[in-house]
Amino acid sequence: MEMISKSMQALLSQNSVIRAMFEEGERLRGEYGSDKVYDFSLGNPNVPAPAEVEQAIREVLAEEPSVSVHGYMNNAGFADLRTAIADSLQERFGLAYRADQLIMTTGAAAALNILLKTVLNPGDEVLTFAPYFSEYKNYVQNYGGVLRLVATDPETFLPDLDALRKAIGEKTRALILNTPNNPSGVVYSEEVLRGIQGVLAEKEREFGSCILVISDEPYRELVYDGAMVPWIPALMPHAAVVYSYSKTLSLPGERIGWLLLPDSIPEARELYAAAVIANRISGFVNAPSLIQRVLKRTLGCRADFSVYEHNRALLLRELPKMGYRLVKPEGAFYLLIQAPEGDDAAFAATLKEERILTVPCKSFACPGYVRLAYCVAETTVRNALPGFRRTAESYKA
Ligand code: PLP
Repeated sequence: MEMISKSMQALLSQNSVIRAMFEEGERLRGEYGSDKVYDFSLGNPNVPAPAEVEQAIREVLAEEPSVSVHGYMNNAGFADLRTAIADSLQERFGLAYRADQLIMTTGAAAALNILLKTVLNPGDEVLTFAPYFSEYKNYVQNYGGVLRLVATDPETFLPDLDALRKAIGEKTRALILNTPNNPSGVVYSEEVLRGIQGVLAEKEREFGSCILVISDEPYRELVYDGAMVPWIPALMPHAAVVYSYSKTLSLPGERIGWLLLPDSIPEARELYAAAVIANRISGFVNAPSLIQRVLKRTLGCRADFSVYEHNRALLLRELPKMGYRLVKPEGAFYLLIQAPEGDDAAFAATLKEERILTVPCKSFACPGYVRLAYCVAETTVRNALPGFRRTAESYKA
């Protein structure tokens, strides 16, 4: 008897590679002490949530009735919170939104899943630009879809519009955009987005279809050197937005985000109603309630991103001096380093000998690079630099 489904058996065997990496980190920490292990492998924010969030948790518990704080609600989330978010989006981006276009979700991961569940039929294709957040593949497969990767410029990781044009076919149902990008840190300018929109409109005319743009934006506020992240629905009429407070408020474990379905998407009202049902029947029922009440009091707050700014500046200054080639990230907290001899797994293994843990980017469809998540203490970056230097020297020898 086989207890585990074939699809989960496949995931189980892939997962053991990730688990092996995690266990290796644990082993090194046990052997050398955690301050001697420089772990850049996980995108888990290391800055605390803003003090306002903890204060708001106390206030909600003290001031609001327990049954409403902890009770079931509309499957889309608390209406007053959705209205407040709609108003803040209108204030920031100049387009009018309503509570009944927003669904509070269990993080961006759930928002992506319920939207894909709502729109995909088996065999439908979803496009995304490589390198990409590798969970997209699993999320698309959850609903019988097929994720197809579209190339980017190998120097800049910006979208290759010809490749996009060629990738779109009759089965193309959606395009997931992720800017600022995990793992490249690249931010798409308005010009880049207008270029993508031009190709989508051309192909929609050709196939008589609607290609849903899914803008996955958990890093929207995490940008450097004054970089601007354009509001995608202002440029793309068929765009839905997926957002998360995991990084903005350093709350990844609280599992809170939202899905926005603007009226410019065809059948927007039915789509919204169906997505609310998808949220309910996917097992989420509704997004966690306490943190929704807290959000209502802390909209507009942000975690202190200065550690990320310092780490990024330090890495961008020091690593090129050692001879490493980097793709300068304008956002998020990831940095891609090109493997000196092109083999990302070998480079990651050499760095591991220096107790520097990174992720080889083959899994992000970006072979030849390793990803550093620099959401770590500044001392971790400083103390890792000698190991980076020795590794660079070893490749020159
Ligand atoms: N999308 C991207 C690009 C991410 O990097 C992540 C998490 O790291 C997610 C979605 C999922 O975020 P959440 O914690 O909000 O589910």
